[in-house]
Amino acid sequence: MHTSIAATSANTQYFIDKEEQFGAHNYHPLPVVLQRGEGVFMYDVDGKRYYDFLSGYSAVNQGHCHPRIVASLIEQAQKLTLTSRAFHNNLLGEYEEYITQYFGYDKVLPMNTGVEAVETAIKLARRWGYAVKGIEDNKAKIVVCAENFHGRTSTVISFSTDPSSYSKFGPYMPGFKVIPYNNLEALKEALNDKDVCGFLVEPIQGEAGVVVPEEGYLSTAKQYCAEANVLFIGDEIQTGLCRTGKMLACDHENVRPDILILGKALSGGMLPVSAVLADDQIMLGIKPGEHGSTYGGNPLACAVAITSLQILKDEQLAERSEKLGALLREELAKLNSPFIETIRGKGLLNAIVIKHSNPEAAWELCMEMKENGLLAKPTHGDKIRFAPPLVITEEQIHECVGIISKSLEILK
Ligand SMILES: *Cc1c(COP(=O)(O)O)cnc(C)c1O
Repeated sequence: MHTSIAATSANTQYFIDKEEQFGAHNYHPLPVVLQRGEGVFMYDVDGKRYYDFLSGYSAVNQGHCHPRIVASLIEQAQKLTLTSRAFHNNLLGEYEEYITQYFGYDKVLPMNTGVEAVETAIKLARRWGYAVKGIEDNKAKIVVCAENFHGRTSTVISFSTDPSSYSKFGPYMPGFKVIPYNNLEALKEALNDKDVCGFLVEPIQGEAGVVVPEEGYLSTAKQYCAEANVLFIGDEIQTGLCRTGKMLACDHENVRPDILILGKALSGGMLPVSAVLADDQIMLGIKPGEHGSTYGGNPLACAVAITSLQILKDEQLAERSEKLGALLREELAKLNSPFIETIRGKGLLNAIVIKHSNPEAAWELCMEMKENGLLAKPTHGDKIRFAPPLVITEEQIHECVGIISKSLEILK
Protein backbone atom coordinates (compact mmCIF):
# COMPACT_ATOMS: atom_id res chain seq x y z
CA MET A 1 0.00 0.00 0.00
CA HIS A 2 1.25 3.47 -0.87
CA THR A 3 1.17 6.15 1.75
CA SER A 4 -0.44 9.44 0.93
CA ILE A 5 2.30 12.02 0.56
CA ALA A 6 0.09 15.08 0.31
CA ALA A 7 1.11 17.59 2.95
CA THR A 8 -1.34 19.65 4.96
CA SER A 9 -1.01 23.34 4.09
CA ALA A 10 0.21 25.73 6.79
CA ASN A 11 -3.10 27.53 6.52
CA THR A 12 -5.07 24.34 7.18
CA GLN A 13 -2.74 23.33 9.98
CA TYR A 14 -3.30 26.69 11.71
CA PHE A 15 -7.01 25.95 12.18
CA ILE A 16 -6.45 22.33 13.12
CA ASP A 17 -3.94 23.35 15.79
CA LYS A 18 -6.42 25.78 17.34
CA GLU A 19 -9.06 23.05 17.67
CA GLU A 20 -6.48 20.68 19.09
CA GLN A 21 -5.36 23.21 21.70
CA PHE A 22 -8.69 24.73 22.74
CA GLY A 23 -11.32 22.14 21.92
CA ALA A 24 -12.20 18.92 23.68
CA HIS A 25 -10.81 15.90 21.90
CA ASN A 26 -14.12 14.09 21.39
CA TYR A 27 -13.83 13.76 17.60
CA HIS A 28 -11.18 12.56 15.15
CA PRO A 29 -11.87 14.50 11.94
CA LEU A 30 -10.17 14.18 8.59
CA PRO A 31 -7.52 16.93 8.30
CA VAL A 32 -9.57 19.28 6.12
CA VAL A 33 -10.79 22.73 7.18
CA LEU A 34 -13.96 23.81 5.43
CA GLN A 35 -15.19 27.36 5.10
CA ARG A 36 -17.96 27.36 2.51
CA GLY A 37 -20.64 25.05 1.13
CA GLU A 38 -22.95 25.18 -1.86
CA GLY A 39 -25.21 22.32 -2.96
CA VAL A 40 -23.15 19.13 -3.15
CA PHE A 41 -19.86 20.97 -2.68
CA MET A 42 -17.76 22.17 0.22
CA TYR A 43 -14.68 24.40 -0.08
CA ASP A 44 -11.67 24.43 2.24
CA VAL A 45 -9.68 27.38 3.55
CA ASP A 46 -7.29 27.08 0.59
CA GLY A 47 -10.21 27.31 -1.84
CA LYS A 48 -10.13 23.64 -2.83
CA ARG A 49 -13.50 22.15 -3.81
CA TYR A 50 -14.81 18.79 -2.57
CA TYR A 51 -17.87 16.66 -3.16
CA ASP A 52 -19.54 16.12 0.21
CA PHE A 53 -20.25 12.39 0.59
CA LEU A 54 -21.33 12.60 4.23
CA SER A 55 -23.87 15.46 4.15
CA GLY A 56 -23.38 16.18 7.84
CA TYR A 57 -24.57 12.66 8.65
CA SER A 58 -27.60 13.29 6.40
CA ALA A 59 -28.45 16.72 7.83
CA VAL A 60 -27.92 18.49 4.50
CA ASN A 61 -30.14 16.37 2.26
CA GLN A 62 -31.31 19.59 0.56
CA GLY A 63 -27.69 20.60 -0.22
CA HIS A 64 -25.44 23.08 1.53
CA CYS A 65 -26.80 26.58 2.09
CA HIS A 66 -29.94 25.98 0.07
CA PRO A 67 -30.94 29.50 -1.04
CA ARG A 68 -34.59 29.06 -0.04
CA ILE A 69 -33.68 27.86 3.45
CA VAL A 70 -31.13 30.65 3.85
CA ALA A 71 -33.79 33.17 2.80
CA SER A 72 -36.27 31.79 5.37
CA LEU A 73 -33.59 31.86 8.05
CA ILE A 74 -32.62 35.47 7.34
CA GLU A 75 -36.17 36.69 6.99
CA GLN A 76 -37.29 35.15 10.26
CA ALA A 77 -34.05 36.11 12.09
CA GLN A 78 -34.87 39.74 11.41
CA LYS A 79 -38.35 39.39 12.92
CA LEU A 80 -38.30 37.09 15.94
CA THR A 81 -36.08 34.16 16.90
CA LEU A 82 -37.06 33.01 20.39
CA THR A 83 -39.98 33.52 22.71
CA SER A 84 -39.62 30.38 24.83
CA ARG A 85 -42.80 28.41 25.32
CA ALA A 86 -43.86 30.69 28.16
CA PHE A 87 -45.66 32.63 25.41
CA HIS A 88 -47.16 31.72 22.06
CA ASN A 89 -45.52 32.74 18.78
CA ASN A 90 -47.12 33.19 15.38
CA LEU A 91 -45.13 30.44 13.64
CA LEU A 92 -45.36 27.48 16.01
CA GLY A 93 -48.98 26.61 15.25
CA GLU A 94 -48.41 27.06 11.52
CA TYR A 95 -45.43 24.72 11.66
CA GLU A 96 -47.26 22.18 13.82
CA GLU A 97 -50.14 22.10 11.38
CA TYR A 98 -47.76 21.80 8.44
CA ILE A 99 -45.62 18.95 9.79
CA THR A 100 -48.47 16.90 11.26
CA GLN A 101 -50.39 17.04 7.97
CA TYR A 102 -47.18 16.31 6.05
CA PHE A 103 -46.59 13.06 7.95
CA GLY A 104 -50.17 12.25 8.97
CA TYR A 105 -50.09 12.42 12.78
CA ASP A 106 -52.37 14.17 15.27
CA LYS A 107 -49.62 16.05 17.09
CA VAL A 108 -45.95 17.04 17.11
CA LEU A 109 -43.60 17.82 19.99
CA PRO A 110 -40.74 20.06 18.81
CA MET A 111 -37.21 19.70 20.17
CA ASN A 112 -33.74 20.68 18.93
CA THR A 113 -31.12 17.95 18.67
CA GLY A 114 -31.83 14.40 17.61
CA VAL A 115 -31.06 12.84 20.94
CA GLU A 116 -33.51 15.17 22.68
CA ALA A 117 -36.20 13.86 20.39
CA VAL A 118 -35.18 10.28 21.25
CA GLU A 119 -35.37 11.17 24.96
CA THR A 120 -38.80 12.67 24.34
CA ALA A 121 -39.96 9.50 22.56
CA ILE A 122 -38.75 7.39 25.48
CA LYS A 123 -40.67 9.56 27.95
CA LEU A 124 -43.81 9.45 25.79
CA ALA A 125 -43.63 5.67 25.48
CA ARG A 126 -43.13 5.18 29.21
CA ARG A 127 -45.95 7.58 30.05
CA TRP A 128 -48.23 5.74 27.62
CA GLY A 129 -47.14 2.47 29.21
CA TYR A 130 -48.31 3.65 32.64
CA ALA A 131 -51.35 5.72 31.67
CA VAL A 132 -52.80 3.62 28.86
CA LYS A 133 -51.30 0.14 28.94
CA GLY A 134 -51.43 -0.06 32.72
CA ILE A 135 -47.84 -1.06 33.45
CA GLU A 136 -46.94 -0.90 37.13
CA ASP A 137 -45.10 2.31 38.03
CA ASN A 138 -41.34 2.31 37.29
CA LYS A 139 -41.50 -1.10 35.60
CA ALA A 140 -41.76 -0.01 31.94
CA LYS A 141 -39.24 -1.47 29.52
CA ILE A 142 -38.20 -0.42 26.04
CA VAL A 143 -36.76 -2.96 23.61
CA VAL A 144 -33.83 -1.72 21.50
CA CYS A 145 -31.41 -3.28 19.01
CA ALA A 146 -27.73 -4.17 19.26
CA GLU A 147 -25.38 -1.85 17.32
CA ASN A 148 -27.94 0.95 17.65
CA PHE A 149 -27.13 4.63 17.50
CA HIS A 150 -29.67 6.97 19.05
CA GLY A 151 -27.41 9.73 20.39
CA ARG A 152 -25.13 10.62 23.28
CA THR A 153 -27.04 11.45 26.46
CA SER A 154 -26.41 9.34 29.53
CA THR A 155 -29.80 7.62 29.16
CA VAL A 156 -29.34 6.85 25.49
CA ILE A 157 -25.78 5.52 25.86
CA SER A 158 -27.11 3.26 28.61
CA PHE A 159 -28.49 0.98 25.90
CA SER A 160 -25.63 1.36 23.40
CA THR A 161 -23.66 -1.79 22.65
CA ASP A 162 -20.58 0.15 21.51
CA PRO A 163 -18.04 0.27 24.37
CA SER A 164 -16.57 3.54 23.08
CA SER A 165 -20.02 5.11 23.61
CA TYR A 166 -20.80 3.72 27.07
CA SER A 167 -17.59 2.64 28.84
CA LYS A 168 -16.80 4.54 32.04
CA PHE A 169 -19.92 6.69 31.69
CA GLY A 170 -22.03 4.61 34.06
CA PRO A 171 -24.07 4.06 36.15
CA TYR A 172 -26.60 3.30 33.45
CA MET A 173 -30.31 3.99 33.12
CA PRO A 174 -32.33 0.79 33.65
CA GLY A 175 -35.43 -0.20 31.69
CA PHE A 176 -33.97 -1.19 28.32
CA LYS A 177 -33.66 -4.61 26.77
CA VAL A 178 -31.20 -5.13 23.92
CA ILE A 179 -31.98 -7.71 21.23
CA PRO A 180 -30.14 -8.45 17.96
CA TYR A 181 -31.11 -6.25 14.98
CA ASN A 182 -32.93 -7.83 12.07
CA ASN A 183 -34.03 -10.75 14.22
CA LEU A 184 -37.81 -11.20 14.41
CA GLU A 185 -37.66 -14.25 16.68
CA ALA A 186 -35.72 -12.28 19.28
CA LEU A 187 -38.23 -9.45 19.00
CA LYS A 188 -41.20 -11.75 19.41
CA GLU A 189 -39.65 -13.23 22.53
CA ALA A 190 -38.77 -9.83 23.99
CA LEU A 191 -42.30 -8.56 23.42
CA ASN A 192 -43.71 -11.44 25.44
CA ASP A 193 -43.44 -9.34 28.60
CA LYS A 194 -46.32 -7.21 29.86
CA ASP A 195 -43.94 -4.49 31.04
CA VAL A 196 -42.70 -3.64 27.55
CA CYS A 197 -44.10 -0.31 26.32
CA GLY A 198 -42.00 0.36 23.22
CA PHE A 199 -39.68 -0.98 20.53
CA LEU A 200 -37.15 1.67 19.48
CA VAL A 201 -35.54 0.95 16.12
CA GLU A 202 -33.64 2.52 13.23
CA PRO A 203 -35.19 1.35 9.92
CA ILE A 204 -31.62 1.18 8.61
CA GLN A 205 -28.75 1.32 11.10
CA GLY A 206 -26.77 4.34 9.90
CA GLU A 207 -23.88 4.66 12.33
CA ALA A 208 -23.42 0.90 12.44
CA GLY A 209 -22.39 1.19 8.79
CA VAL A 210 -25.67 1.39 6.87
CA VAL A 211 -27.00 -2.00 7.92
CA VAL A 212 -30.16 -2.70 5.91
CA PRO A 213 -32.49 -5.28 7.49
CA GLU A 214 -34.13 -8.02 5.45
CA GLU A 215 -37.22 -7.08 3.52
CA GLY A 216 -40.24 -7.60 5.71
CA TYR A 217 -38.39 -6.97 8.97
CA LEU A 218 -40.02 -3.62 9.65
CA SER A 219 -43.53 -4.60 8.63
CA THR A 220 -43.44 -7.82 10.65
CA ALA A 221 -41.87 -6.01 13.62
CA LYS A 222 -44.68 -3.47 13.48
CA GLN A 223 -47.23 -6.27 13.37
CA TYR A 224 -45.65 -8.02 16.38
CA CYS A 225 -45.69 -4.72 18.28
CA ALA A 226 -49.35 -4.17 17.49
CA GLU A 227 -50.22 -7.71 18.64
CA ALA A 228 -48.31 -7.21 21.89
CA ASN A 229 -49.77 -3.72 22.51
CA VAL A 230 -46.29 -2.17 22.27
CA LEU A 231 -45.44 1.13 20.56
CA PHE A 232 -43.27 0.93 17.45
CA ILE A 233 -40.87 3.88 17.75
CA GLY A 234 -39.11 4.72 14.48
CA ASP A 235 -35.87 6.69 14.78
CA GLU A 236 -35.78 8.25 11.31
CA ILE A 237 -33.35 11.01 12.27
CA GLN A 238 -30.82 9.78 9.70
CA THR A 239 -32.96 7.64 7.38
CA GLY A 240 -35.93 9.99 7.07
CA LEU A 241 -36.60 12.98 4.82
CA CYS A 242 -35.90 11.31 1.47
CA ARG A 243 -32.44 9.98 2.33
CA THR A 244 -33.28 6.35 1.47
CA GLY A 245 -35.43 6.99 -1.61
CA LYS A 246 -38.76 7.46 0.17
CA MET A 247 -39.95 10.26 2.45
CA LEU A 248 -39.36 7.86 5.38
CA ALA A 249 -37.39 4.62 5.31
CA CYS A 250 -40.41 2.96 6.97
CA ASP A 251 -42.42 3.85 3.83
CA HIS A 252 -40.51 1.12 1.95
CA GLU A 253 -42.59 -1.37 3.93
CA ASN A 254 -45.68 0.78 4.42
CA VAL A 255 -45.02 0.94 8.14
CA ARG A 256 -46.41 3.85 10.11
CA PRO A 257 -44.49 4.17 13.38
CA ASP A 258 -46.62 4.88 16.47
CA ILE A 259 -43.95 7.39 17.43
CA LEU A 260 -41.86 8.98 14.67
CA ILE A 261 -38.56 10.71 15.47
CA LEU A 262 -37.07 13.25 13.03
CA GLY A 263 -34.02 15.51 13.15
CA LYS A 264 -30.97 16.29 11.04
CA ALA A 265 -32.36 17.29 7.59
CA LEU A 266 -35.46 18.81 9.20
CA SER A 267 -33.50 22.07 9.05
CA GLY A 268 -31.38 21.28 5.99
CA GLY A 269 -28.29 21.77 8.16
CA MET A 270 -29.12 25.31 9.30
CA LEU A 271 -29.67 24.78 13.02
CA PRO A 272 -30.63 21.91 15.31
CA VAL A 273 -34.31 21.10 14.77
CA SER A 274 -35.89 17.80 15.81
CA ALA A 275 -39.43 16.59 16.22
CA VAL A 276 -41.48 13.75 17.66
CA LEU A 277 -44.78 12.90 16.00
CA ALA A 278 -47.56 10.76 17.46
CA ASP A 279 -51.32 10.57 17.82
CA ASP A 280 -53.29 12.08 20.69
CA GLN A 281 -53.54 8.99 22.88
CA ILE A 282 -49.74 8.96 23.12
CA MET A 283 -48.93 12.66 22.87
CA LEU A 284 -51.51 13.94 25.33
CA GLY A 285 -50.02 11.69 28.04
CA ILE A 286 -47.59 14.51 28.73
CA LYS A 287 -49.28 17.46 30.47
CA PRO A 288 -48.20 21.12 30.79
CA GLY A 289 -44.99 21.50 32.75
CA GLU A 290 -43.98 17.86 32.44
CA HIS A 291 -41.55 18.14 29.51
CA GLY A 292 -40.03 20.84 27.32
CA SER A 293 -37.08 22.77 25.99
CA THR A 294 -36.21 26.47 25.92
CA TYR A 295 -35.43 26.45 22.22
CA GLY A 296 -37.93 23.77 21.18
CA GLY A 297 -40.44 25.17 18.70
CA ASN A 298 -38.70 28.54 18.40
CA PRO A 299 -39.94 30.65 15.47
CA LEU A 300 -36.62 30.56 13.64
CA ALA A 301 -36.62 26.74 13.71
CA CYS A 302 -40.28 26.67 12.63
CA ALA A 303 -39.63 28.88 9.60
CA VAL A 304 -36.55 26.90 8.57
CA ALA A 305 -38.24 23.51 9.05
CA ILE A 306 -41.28 24.42 6.95
CA THR A 307 -39.05 25.49 4.05
CA SER A 308 -36.78 22.46 4.45
CA LEU A 309 -39.79 20.13 4.23
CA GLN A 310 -41.26 22.03 1.27
CA ILE A 311 -38.02 21.62 -0.67
CA LEU A 312 -38.08 17.83 -0.26
CA LYS A 313 -41.34 17.73 -2.20
CA ASP A 314 -40.76 20.65 -4.59
CA GLU A 315 -37.45 19.20 -5.77
CA GLN A 316 -38.70 15.60 -5.70
CA LEU A 317 -35.74 14.54 -3.61
CA ALA A 318 -37.17 11.12 -2.72
CA GLU A 319 -37.39 10.09 -6.38
CA ARG A 320 -33.96 11.54 -7.02
CA SER A 321 -32.45 9.70 -4.07
CA GLU A 322 -34.02 6.39 -5.15
CA LYS A 323 -32.80 6.69 -8.75
CA LEU A 324 -29.32 8.08 -8.12
CA GLY A 325 -28.70 5.70 -5.23
CA ALA A 326 -29.33 2.74 -7.51
CA LEU A 327 -27.00 4.28 -10.08
CA LEU A 328 -24.28 4.85 -7.47
CA ARG A 329 -24.38 1.23 -6.25
CA GLU A 330 -24.44 -0.05 -9.83
CA GLU A 331 -21.42 2.04 -10.86
CA LEU A 332 -19.50 1.10 -7.72
CA ALA A 333 -20.18 -2.59 -8.42
CA LYS A 334 -18.84 -2.15 -11.96
CA LEU A 335 -15.48 -1.08 -10.52
CA ASN A 336 -15.07 -4.69 -9.46
CA SER A 337 -12.48 -3.57 -6.91
CA PRO A 338 -10.78 -6.32 -4.91
CA PHE A 339 -10.75 -3.88 -1.99
CA ILE A 340 -14.51 -3.44 -1.82
CA GLU A 341 -16.03 -6.38 0.00
CA THR A 342 -19.61 -5.09 0.18
CA ILE A 343 -21.70 -2.31 -1.34
CA ARG A 344 -24.98 -1.74 0.43
CA GLY A 345 -27.64 0.84 1.08
CA LYS A 346 -30.95 2.27 0.01
CA GLY A 347 -31.44 5.46 -1.95
CA LEU A 348 -28.48 7.73 -1.25
CA LEU A 349 -27.68 6.20 2.15
CA ASN A 350 -24.91 3.79 1.23
CA ALA A 351 -21.73 2.26 2.55
CA ILE A 352 -18.89 0.16 1.29
CA VAL A 353 -16.95 -2.29 3.42
CA ILE A 354 -13.23 -2.32 2.70
CA LYS A 355 -11.30 -5.56 2.46
CA HIS A 356 -7.58 -5.10 3.07
CA SER A 357 -4.76 -6.51 5.17
CA ASN A 358 -4.07 -3.05 6.58
CA PRO A 359 -6.64 -2.11 9.25
CA GLU A 360 -6.06 1.56 8.39
CA ALA A 361 -7.05 1.04 4.75
CA ALA A 362 -10.46 2.75 5.01
CA TRP A 363 -8.87 5.81 6.60
CA GLU A 364 -6.11 5.86 3.94
CA LEU A 365 -8.73 5.64 1.21
CA CYS A 366 -10.67 8.55 2.72
CA MET A 367 -7.43 10.58 2.86
CA GLU A 368 -6.79 9.81 -0.80
CA MET A 369 -10.37 10.65 -1.80
CA LYS A 370 -9.91 13.94 0.04
CA GLU A 371 -6.82 14.65 -2.09
CA ASN A 372 -8.90 13.85 -5.15
CA GLY A 373 -11.79 16.11 -4.12
CA LEU A 374 -14.33 13.91 -2.31
CA LEU A 375 -15.02 13.87 1.42
CA ALA A 376 -16.18 10.73 3.21
CA LYS A 377 -15.45 9.33 6.65
CA PRO A 378 -14.85 5.78 7.86
CA THR A 379 -17.17 4.35 10.50
CA HIS A 380 -16.30 1.34 12.68
CA GLY A 381 -12.89 0.96 11.04
CA ASP A 382 -13.56 -0.70 7.71
CA LYS A 383 -16.81 0.90 6.53
CA ILE A 384 -17.17 4.11 4.54
CA ARG A 385 -20.52 5.86 4.17
CA PHE A 386 -21.40 7.32 0.77
CA ALA A 387 -24.28 9.73 1.35
CA PRO A 388 -24.08 12.88 -0.79
CA PRO A 389 -26.70 15.65 -0.64
CA LEU A 390 -29.79 14.53 -2.55
CA VAL A 391 -29.45 17.42 -5.02
CA ILE A 392 -26.50 15.65 -6.67
CA THR A 393 -26.88 15.05 -10.43
CA GLU A 394 -26.42 11.91 -12.49
CA GLU A 395 -23.36 13.39 -14.16
CA GLN A 396 -21.85 14.20 -10.76
CA ILE A 397 -22.44 10.62 -9.56
CA HIS A 398 -20.36 9.41 -12.51
CA GLU A 399 -17.63 11.92 -11.72
CA CYS A 400 -17.60 10.85 -8.06
CA VAL A 401 -17.32 7.15 -8.93
CA GLY A 402 -14.35 8.18 -11.08
CA ILE A 403 -12.75 9.84 -8.05
CA ILE A 404 -13.43 6.77 -5.89
CA SER A 405 -12.02 4.48 -8.58
CA LYS A 406 -8.84 6.53 -8.93
CA SER A 407 -8.45 6.73 -5.14
CA LEU A 408 -8.76 2.95 -4.73
CA GLU A 409 -5.41 2.70 -6.55
CA ILE A 410 -3.70 3.75 -3.33
CA LEU A 411 -4.68 0.46 -1.71
CA LYS A 412 -2.67 -1.56 -4.24
C1 LIG B 1 -27.63 11.49 14.50
C2 LIG B 1 -28.60 10.54 15.09
C3 LIG B 1 -29.13 10.73 16.38
C4 LIG B 1 -28.68 11.85 17.28
O1 LIG B 1 -28.88 13.13 16.75
P1 LIG B 1 -28.10 14.37 17.39
O2 LIG B 1 -28.67 15.55 16.68
O3 LIG B 1 -26.65 14.16 17.10
O4 LIG B 1 -28.38 14.36 18.84
C5 LIG B 1 -30.08 9.83 16.84
N1 LIG B 1 -30.48 8.80 16.08
C6 LIG B 1 -29.99 8.57 14.85
C7 LIG B 1 -30.48 7.41 14.06
C8 LIG B 1 -29.01 9.42 14.32
O5 LIG B 1 -28.50 9.18 13.11
